[in-house]
Amino acid sequence: MKKYQVAIIGGGPAGYTAAEKAGKAGLSVILFEKRALGGVCLNDGCIPTKTLLYSAKLYDTFKEAKRFALECTDFTYDFKKIISRKNKVVRKLVLGIKAKMQEAGVTVIEGEAQLKDKNTIICNDESYTFDNLIICTGSETFVPPIKGIENIDYWTHEEALSTKEQPKSLIIVGGGVIGMEFASFYNSLGTEVTVVEMMDEILSVMDAETVQILRDEYTKRGIKFMTSTQVMSFGKSGELLNATVVFEGEEQFIEAEKILISVGRRAMLDKLVSPIGLELNERKQAIVSDKLQSNIPHVYVCGDANGKSLLAHTAIREAEVAVNTILGMTDTMSYQAIPSIVYTNPELAAVGHTEAYLIKHKVSYTKKTLPMTFSGRFVAENEGFSGLVKILIDTKTKHILGVHIVGNPASEIITLAAMAIENKLTVDQWNKIVFPHPTVSEIFKDLL
Ligand SMILES: Cc1cc2nc3c(=O)[nH]c(=O)nc-3n(C[C@H](O)[C@H](O)[C@H](O)COP(=O)(O)OP(=O)(O)OC[C@H]3O[C@@H](n4cnc5c(N)ncnc54)[C@H](O)[C@@H]3O)c2cc1C
Repeated sequence: MKKYQVAIIGGGPAGYTAAEKAGKAGLSVILFEKRALGGVCLNDGCIPTKTLLYSAKLYDTFKEAKRFALECTDFTYDFKKIISRKNKVVRKLVLGIKAKMQEAGVTVIEGEAQLKDKNTIICNDESYTFDNLIICTGSETFVPPIKGIENIDYWTHEEALSTKEQPKSLIIVGGGVIGMEFASFYNSLGTEVTVVEMMDEILSVMDAETVQILRDEYTKRGIKFMTSTQVMSFGKSGELLNATVVFEGEEQFIEAEKILISVGRRAMLDKLVSPIGLELNERKQAIVSDKLQSNIPHVYVCGDANGKSLLAHTAIREAEVAVNTILGMTDTMSYQAIPSIVYTNPELAAVGHTEAYLIKHKVSYTKKTLPMTFSGRFVAENEGFSGLVKILIDTKTKHILGVHIVGNPASEIITLAAMAIENKLTVDQWNKIVFPHPTVSEIFKDLL
């Protein structure tokens, strides 16, 4: 039986980051992956969605070519090829992760790891012992127990990413980030999209003002939003699927070729809990310290499995903190400046607190907003959409508390705001930074 200094279960962003870092630091590392290296993020999450969305974005640009004084008359798309290109991008990146594991000297075992006790893993009938364990098993789609769901061939994100046939119509149950990204992709290609959301707004945890701008934009483009609406049952009507929904006490019946369920994700820890007595919270996520340590000091839980943020970039940073702790270095995880992005077109990005949070917690703040069209570069590259950037500043300390943006490339410039918040920059300190001209990020300087 071989012994390793670090064993890692799960080869997604948390797992492969931890493995690479620990391997490069000279520790003996073994990583178990039951499906595919890269995890949900590379295989059916972050990367495939963004690859599809990029094809859709280019297609949107062709449609708008006239606005940029370009003639682009004879263009179309090939749905099957868009999906194949996505598969090619995924294959390339998964190979990249394999190479990284080799370079770092990590032993990779394909198979489902099970815990025998606090220091032993069983996989493919072999036993492996370890000093430290990092559980990075991620999360899976939560499928709500709605009446009739077992009788319909519903989609999760996996089918929505891999279908060979584009549906003519699509009902998306859940207007969160994943739901909105698929709504954006299928709407760009001409599918009739209806988003059904139980809360009174889509993307309900994000800033209400920027979300409303995004929703108005997609309403113009033909997406039908049904908010404050609950799905009561699903069924079949001939070739179509249907949902009976309730809005303000009234029942409505909606139909589409496909129904995508995207109401949330749940931590994947089930079989690993009892053999070691891992402590979970009421949502069945692992309870961890700011060093990612569980109730068992040599067992760490990183990424979606601890449920703190369900984002790949959080998973990556958590894995770094866990490995640094194993290496005896002082490091702690901070969740105060984790960017959240919706890769629609236009993009929505946020970091720090929302106004709703600050009001609820009675924090005194000053709000500054500007349309993105105050940036020369934004005007040069965007036609027909003004966008918005909003900064929330602590009235007393002048620290930045939150930044919310709708407009491209929000996903790229939000990192500046994350750095300002994480490093507790005041407005004056941020203002002394020289921004390259012309860039969209200059909008921050105009605003401050
Ligand atoms: C459609 C979609 C789009 C997304 N887009 C984004 C985005 O744009 N940006 C972003 O930051 N996040 C995005 N996410 C979320 C992101 O994918 C996750 O936050 C991220 O993958 C979490 O990484 P992880 O390492 O914790 O887990 P995962 O990536 O889920 O990896 C866990 C791995 O563990 C393996 N595993 C589980 N149990 C065992 C076992 N017992 N033995 C062996 N292997 C096991 C699984 O097979 C899996 O490969 C998206 C998610 C989805 C579904």
